[in-house]
Amino acid sequence: MLTPATSISSLPDVGPRRGERLSKLGIRTVLDLLYTLPFRYEDRRGVPSIENLREGEPQGFLATVSSIRKKEIRKLRVPVIEAILSDGSGSIKAVWFGQEYILKALPESAHAFFFGRIEYSEFDRSIVVKSPVFEKVDPGQKGRKSFHVNRIVPVYRESLGLTSSFFRKLMGETLLSLWGSDFDPLPESIRKKYVFDSWLKMIVGLHFPADIPSGGSLESLLDPSYPPRKRLIYEEFFLLEFLMFQKKADIRAQGRSNQYRIAPEDFTHFSSSLPFSLTNAQKKVMGEISADLEKDYPMNRLLLGDVGSGKTVIAAWALYLAIKSGFQCALMAPTEILAKQHEKTLSHLFSPLGLTPSLLTNSVKGSERKAIVSGVHSGQISLLVGTQALIQESLNFSCLGLVVIDEQHRFGVDQRRTLMGKGSQPDTLLMTATPIPRSLALSYYGDMDLSILDEKPPGRLPVQTRISRSDNDFWDRIVRPFLERGEQVFVVCPLIEESDVIEAKDASSHWEFLSTYFSPVEVGLLTGRMPYESREEMMSRFRSGEILMLVSTTVIEVGVDIPNATVMVVESAERFGLAQLHQLRGRVGRGSLPGFFFLLPGEGASDEAIARLHVLEESDDGFLVAEEDLRSRGPGEFLGTRQSGAPAFICADLLRDFDTLQSVRMDVRNFLQEGDSQRADHQKWVWAWTTVTDFIRSRYTGVEEWIRVR
Ligand code: ADP
Ligand code: MG
Repeated sequence: MLTPATSISSLPDVGPRRGERLSKLGIRTVLDLLYTLPFRYEDRRGVPSIENLREGEPQGFLATVSSIRKKEIRKLRVPVIEAILSDGSGSIKAVWFGQEYILKALPESAHAFFFGRIEYSEFDRSIVVKSPVFEKVDPGQKGRKSFHVNRIVPVYRESLGLTSSFFRKLMGETLLSLWGSDFDPLPESIRKKYVFDSWLKMIVGLHFPADIPSGGSLESLLDPSYPPRKRLIYEEFFLLEFLMFQKKADIRAQGRSNQYRIAPEDFTHFSSSLPFSLTNAQKKVMGEISADLEKDYPMNRLLLGDVGSGKTVIAAWALYLAIKSGFQCALMAPTEILAKQHEKTLSHLFSPLGLTPSLLTNSVKGSERKAIVSGVHSGQISLLVGTQALIQESLNFSCLGLVVIDEQHRFGVDQRRTLMGKGSQPDTLLMTATPIPRSLALSYYGDMDLSILDEKPPGRLPVQTRISRSDNDFWDRIVRPFLERGEQVFVVCPLIEESDVIEAKDASSHWEFLSTYFSPVEVGLLTGRMPYESREEMMSRFRSGEILMLVSTTVIEVGVDIPNATVMVVESAERFGLAQLHQLRGRVGRGSLPGFFFLLPGEGASDEAIARLHVLEESDDGFLVAEEDLRSRGPGEFLGTRQSGAPAFICADLLRDFDTLQSVRMDVRNFLQEGDSQRADHQKWVWAWTTVTDFIRSRYTGVEEWIRVR
């Protein structure tokens, strides 16, 4: 019996060749097939007789082939197939070009349904139909409905030689074989609540709509409010959120293995050692973290905070509590510059508390490295800060209790998991400054608890943002005065070296230009390709103020904190995502002087691309910028290739359908709280649910990344 889980290769219409092509398109099971939706519909209803056909419109009609023949016309390279089609009312000529198989497919006296554009032909002095599609109808089976004609028909994207009409027939046959199936991945209580049709009705409605919704047009079948689509959007969110909630429940079921000792005076002790007073948002998040550490399951928290919102001190608080409770901690950052900066900051913060962090990066070598590896192994080192070097196999902790990952989106799930695997169910705090829109955060990180730092430390002026032209006037009139006052300038380019392929400013040649232009002022160059030592030296010369202008690539994107840097100029700015630009903007205006952010579009930048940049002129709110970025580039782009496996929804759209997502989250929570026994349809549902889950897993390659199994 055919079920949604049946392999596509066992369908009668699918031979080995088509099976292979379908599987290349990711279609392996009946479910995969049925979730391959048409991208538009055609209204092929209503069957006029031939005498009533109207010129100039695509129409369908039923006719018998009176005669059919092949004609060679010298001017045309291909043979012409000509047929006379008749019904009781009259006849019409049909022509096809080069499709010789039609001679066989439509022998004389064949009865078929034809659909095509009706045109007037000067030559014939009558109407003809050119290249109509057709489907033979057995006159003995008049009642049998055709998939291709006499109805609203779906049109599918053609790919790898698989035609739309092949898909249509396959869908139709498959649906007929599934007839009566009560497969449904949505539980009955949910279906009742929203008065959703059954799954099968939904699928039929998506492929073979019986009618156009009242008051709508053919296009309204593509609208998210068309009931079958509405249900599908809900279904997609429901299934994905369900996976998230389960993941979360699994983590909680593990229980806690590391017991913390947190005393009421810890907070006072910690905060009084700081050189500033904490913002309310910081205090709130710190409270959330200490509460997590006392729960009976491991902390699994994501901290979202705009650039400059003060996440480092939050990390320090978690680290402090863990170290005080006798655990080792690891703090991993994506670049050496950032790891080193964290090590410095933490040394300062922790010196009144008598703690010293150790630093491990790939440039720590020889005996120094050996000492660190053995110190970590013996437990002597309680706080290790570093880069990817922390996940090397040879590094073993004696009691790793807390893992903090800064700029976590820069790491793959494997890297995060490897580090966590070095402890026994360690508590984890992931931090990210790429402001993820709330909608994405909720759905992509639904298995984690979220903390949001939505308040910046006081006294910081917003960075002024301007779109400008890259010309001598700009460098002379606008940038030079900053340098003369001793303020520091970042210049960011999208490329390291000149490229033949991409037309954008590259750091190396731009550095040569600016060095000459501002001579004798020394201009520094920093790219990810330079050896670590040179980068480090350049960074420290810039930090000390010895160099006033630094040309670089986005290596300085994350974390870098230089209070005297007031200006950032971004070349070929349209090449960057808005969220990334916002992140870059966070590098300036970190001290007491106001910051300036200049966006210089490249010569080939489109008006549209420049218009997008205006969002940054208008808003300093990272979340708003991120929403806009999501709107213009879609979630896949937004999360970047590192987060591949971001689900491409079939029908749902995180922004457009955000309200639905919110209700789904509530529903899933309630559903999980109901007992199994209350659900009469439980077994059946579990089966449907598992099948669809498998479907989701196979559909979204790397979905592990997405649901972040750890
Ligand atoms: P983020 O990592 O969130 O971008 P940082 O932790 O690097 O931000 O903090 C940015 C700057 O703000 C640092 O120089 C830090 O010392 C400072 N800072 C953090 N919290 C406060 C606060 N409550 N008051 C004043 N300055 C703060
Ligand atoms: Mg930071």
